[in-house]
Amino acid sequence: MRVLLVEDEPDLAQALARGLRRQGYAVDVAENGERGWELGEVNDYDLLILDLNLPDMDGLEVCRRLRSSKPGLLILMLTARDRVMDKVIGLDSGADDYLTKPFHFEELLARVRALLRRDLRVREPILRVGDLKLDPASRIAWVGRRRLNLTHKEFGILEYLMRRAGEVVSQEELIEHVWNEDVNLFTSSVRVHVHSLRRKLEDDAKCPRYIETVPGGGYRLRNPGEDQ
Ligand code: CA
Repeated sequence: MRVLLVEDEPDLAQALARGLRRQGYAVDVAENGERGWELGEVNDYDLLILDLNLPDMDGLEVCRRLRSSKPGLLILMLTARDRVMDKVIGLDSGADDYLTKPFHFEELLARVRALLRRDLRVREPILRVGDLKLDPASRIAWVGRRRLNLTHKEFGILEYLMRRAGEVVSQEELIEHVWNEDVNLFTSSVRVHVHSLRRKLEDDAKCPRYIETVPGGGYRLRNPGEDQ
């Protein structure tokens, strides 16, 4: 899942980004509203964590703009204020949830998980495709009864392919959803991670049971329910 964090306090931004990355989220950080808005427009994020009080374009404005251009984007607003009026304004501007500073990192994580679960794409908490099973909340995946030992990237790739099971997913789309902006990435690096994921699934690229390579640089997770 790809997250954009817009926060102007550098220490807080770095600490949150580090913590979220440790949980396996791909995180980009913007240090002001203008930059946050730009990144939000050009990239395809699953979740926006947005500070309300920003030095230039404030969080409400960023929220309004991105809400109108990216209707499916989930938005969690952070604020130092706890006045009822601000909550009303924040939620009116299109935020999905609200967290008042200071907060514990665990609470932020719980809100993030709850929002992602609430999202239509993640309504089903445990994903199942054939004998593959994946729990986005606990970040555990199984093939049959065997628990897979996956890296963050492999897990991200498998999760995304499972959410889109049966559909062709391009390497660019995987980069967009599984990596963050800082990474100077080539599609060859996606291939490396898919290769190691296949190895762990004991899948054979030439005769795939799970992940098919589609000519033109994409992948498709076979959905046994749709075969024949
Ligand atoms: Ca601030």
